[in-house]
Amino acid sequence: MSKSEFLGCYIDKNEDNSNKFLKTPIFSYIFSHYCYTCSTLFSQDERSDHIDHKYSESLNRKQLQQPCRHILQPLENKRSNAQFFFSQTFIDYLINKIIIKDSWDSIICIGCSTIFENLRCHKSEKKFHYIYLIMIIEIQRNLILFNPYFLEKWIIDAFPNLKMLDHKIEYTSISSLNLCRGKKGSPVRMFTDICRSKFPPLDDINYKYCFECNRYTLLTNQHCFQCQSCTSKDGLPYKHCSLCQRCVKAERIHCNTCN
Ligand SMILES: [Zn+2]
Ligand SMILES: [Zn+2]
Ligand SMILES: [Zn+2]
Ligand SMILES: [Zn+2]
Repeated sequence: MSKSEFLGCYIDKNEDNSNKFLKTPIFSYIFSHYCYTCSTLFSQDERSDHIDHKYSESLNRKQLQQPCRHILQPLENKRSNAQFFFSQTFIDYLINKIIIKDSWDSIICIGCSTIFENLRCHKSEKKFHYIYLIMIIEIQRNLILFNPYFLEKWIIDAFPNLKMLDHKIEYTSISSLNLCRGKKGSPVRMFTDICRSKFPPLDDINYKYCFECNRYTLLTNQHCFQCQSCTSKDGLPYKHCSLCQRCVKAERIHCNTCN
């Protein structure tokens, strides 16, 4: 790693903080203090600028390499700030079962700082190039987006190549996305243009392999031979409505008056 490597992509909509992060070379350990008031790393020489602020000093290498885990705190307004603190179980799954196994040599993490810092510390033979906020044109790339299943229509309109997976993406309890977690578990799914058969199940209990769809789906998601797909979106049972010619939630009854 060279000194020009940056501290990932932390985006703060309200202030100019993300810029400070992006410009901070963390591998030069001169910047070993972190100010929570200014959201910035600073050196011993700059101490006088932060005298009345809340800060941590003399951070070690490990803390600096995993700031989401050891330094940064989630913003207080959980609902208005999307904070992507993926659960460690999901981070391990994504890195070990998807990223390491595939033949990628570059990874762009946008808004996925917990994945980024785990990847960077991963003891793999593979050395990735990390690219930040660069427009990449005409190179072969794959995409994984994390969004709730109910945004599927908008996502597919914008990215017609993407397909939704059934895997329920869990977040840590401090994450704002954990708040949308209902009885059905996390509503967040992966949308990807990678072949869906390459995604093993997240666990051995809740998923089954559908040989018609060639992918793992939730156990409760039944394959519909009319739609030629496992049609459930939220994981709950769906049934085919022959009048609508599509699958709908199992409890729905077709209304002939309003269709
Ligand atoms: Zn400060
Ligand atoms: Zn199926
Ligand atoms: Zn159907
Ligand atoms: Zn119907």
